[in-house]
Amino acid sequence: MVVGRFEGVSRYRLQPTPAQERALLEHCGHARYVWNLAVEQHAHWKPGRASAPGFAEQCRQLTQARAEHEWLRGGSVIVQQQALKDFAQAMANFFGRTHRRPTWRRRGRGEGFRIVAVTAGDVRRLSRTVGEVRVAKVGWVRFRWSRAVPDGVKSYRITCDRAGRWHVAFAVIPEPIPAPGTGEVVGVDRGVAVSVALSTGELLNAPTLRQTEKARLRRLQRKLARAKRGSNRRGKVKAAIATLKARETDRRRDWVEKISTRLARRFDVIAVENLKIAGMTRSARGTVEAPGGNVRQKAGLNRGILAAGWGRLVERLEHKAPGRVVKVNPAYTSQRCSACGIVERTSRESQADFRCRSCGYAGNADVNAARNIRHAAGHAVSARGGPPLGGPANREPQRDLLLVG
Ligand SMILES: [Zn+2]
Repeated sequence: MVVGRFEGVSRYRLQPTPAQERALLEHCGHARYVWNLAVEQHAHWKPGRASAPGFAEQCRQLTQARAEHEWLRGGSVIVQQQALKDFAQAMANFFGRTHRRPTWRRRGRGEGFRIVAVTAGDVRRLSRTVGEVRVAKVGWVRFRWSRAVPDGVKSYRITCDRAGRWHVAFAVIPEPIPAPGTGEVVGVDRGVAVSVALSTGELLNAPTLRQTEKARLRRLQRKLARAKRGSNRRGKVKAAIATLKARETDRRRDWVEKISTRLARRFDVIAVENLKIAGMTRSARGTVEAPGGNVRQKAGLNRGILAAGWGRLVERLEHKAPGRVVKVNPAYTSQRCSACGIVERTSRESQADFRCRSCGYAGNADVNAARNIRHAAGHAVSARGGPPLGGPANREPQRDLLLVG
């Protein structure tokens, strides 16, 4: 598995000087302020009322706010306007049901800002291990050159995690991976018991923390509960927790890149559920088909992780296999028997097992769903009159969708 060349996002540890750090924090503060203003405006909006201000109107208001507030005027208009653009994209993702509703951002919690229209001259290498990136109003900021910066960087995002570590993530649209040409179609389902199930029967799990790390996390969380508010110790414990969580996020992100690359290389057509429809039926799937408190609890535990990881996986697949991703209606994918085609609600014995009362087929419930997705994709492909390799079956990836960090 080659990691690096084709991957869409490359993150590097940023090493700002103390003065630069102050300037970066100011950018973060401005981005957060503008973002929160947008959140607030949209929070008041209810169906039936006049629409909340769109991006153009918000930009006009930003100009006005900059005229009135000197501290805002002192900052970078590029950073502030980009925060509005990111918010507009986040709302579009929310309405597209691939992401949760954008929420209020708090100081010190995953702060960041984005710079677009980056050119080749904005990133340079100083030595074997040191690089520099040009940041508006801050200047050249050093970063650890831990791997090659990909060609064609169009934007980057600078973030400060809860542990106080700065990163720069360069975004490029990954190069499409050529189809293997085998005609093979794979169905991919997001499982509840596992992260991803393939119609081939493979079950793939996103990495989590190791047992020792989990134990450490539990110890830290107990410590945090006992630590006094505002105490030095509390701050240290919080930072340690944040470091562990960041590690888990990093591992998941790498995993999504690896899996999407692997699927794009191995299969001609990759079938997934249409998320726009899935968002609406997903809750019903949890209650109607698999009732029981235990299931719901388990689903709750996984939901956040899976929702974020899944949306990202589909996004990356569309970048790496453009025109080869087929989105199918998720209705009945978990109730239909993939062997005989009968749809029966009682066939799903539990979250993990599927047993057909009609033909006796038994198997993993997520794999059964993945096989149904593959089946539905076969219909979609033949209904269009041939394999989808000839032309783009879905719209081109939008540059703005490349939200990173
Ligand atoms: Zn059957």
